[in-house]
Amino acid sequence: MPEADPAAPPPDTEVPTATRGALVVAAGGADLYRQDEDDEPYVRAHEGLTFPVTGRSGEWLEVLDQCDDPALVRFDEVAFTPARPATSPAPGAGTSFDEAVIVVDPGHGGPNIGAVGPAGLLEKEVNLDIARRTRDLLESPHTVDWETGEILTGGEIPAAGQVWMTRPEGPAGADIEAGLTFRTTLADGINAHALVSIHNNAAPDGPYDGPGSEVYHQVTSTESQRLSGLILEELRREFSRFEADWVGDDDAGAKVRIREDGADIYGILRLSDVPAVIVEGVFISNATEEALLDTIEFRQAYADALYRALVRFMTTDDPGSGFIETDPFTGSLSSGAPVQTCMVPAQPED
Ligand SMILES: [Zn+2]
Repeated sequence: MPEADPAAPPPDTEVPTATRGALVVAAGGADLYRQDEDDEPYVRAHEGLTFPVTGRSGEWLEVLDQCDDPALVRFDEVAFTPARPATSPAPGAGTSFDEAVIVVDPGHGGPNIGAVGPAGLLEKEVNLDIARRTRDLLESPHTVDWETGEILTGGEIPAAGQVWMTRPEGPAGADIEAGLTFRTTLADGINAHALVSIHNNAAPDGPYDGPGSEVYHQVTSTESQRLSGLILEELRREFSRFEADWVGDDDAGAKVRIREDGADIYGILRLSDVPAVIVEGVFISNATEEALLDTIEFRQAYADALYRALVRFMTTDDPGSGFIETDPFTGSLSSGAPVQTCMVPAQPED
């Protein structure tokens, strides 16, 4: 829903009573101020950017910017959406999909390129395209043939109530940096039903008998676990019709990756208060899987699988499958290049 729309009318001028939520910068941009120096804005944020709203004081909204820094923004320069009420329907049988509030997170972005395929395909770009296809499916009604998995336009499954992208349309073609705390605070701020972080993998253990898809869930969240199992089922169903010299990890499946203290290793999962998953669809580091990821057909298949899994998560009690027991992880993480610099994208001068 709240994607960039420069032609949209100016936002309401009435100050909201809610103190948490998310916002979209209105046409023309919005000035961001540091919490403790109110005289000069540090950036005029680009129209269409989204920010999590963590609090409110008068006509100011307290936000977290893309670089994980707190900031203040004037209410009349943004379109504010309050958090989903705690009393709204929970995922499960009998819930309509038009209640769903989903955050779609394309992994990496900007100088954080993620994994790179042997032919040079960048994970950050593939993840973004799959995320956009997923968002597009979520934002309009469909009919699913659950026997074949086919998704038809229009029909009984309504559009999701709200879909938020952590890298929204707007500046730099959405090829922008976004911190892990920013991404999870957006999901928490809007009180999303689910935060789905889309990635592709590298460094497999070796050849694998079929797609080596992995979905990580939060160690303490049964809803995150259920969603991971549903996504794994739908990815396996979808990807098994493609040919590749598949590779994988010995423990491919739906699983946790925890530290020796029992906490989730990955920040997206550890920092999020709402059910969150990290999806590692296939191995971009493997030439034949990279070649698949370079096709529209395969990217759409990835998005179709995520869409069906989210519909099942929100509207059924299906438990999911493919869960794998894991030991605490003591290796080193290869999660893409560390971010060196971060800048909030600025509105161009007229
Ligand atoms: Zn990644």
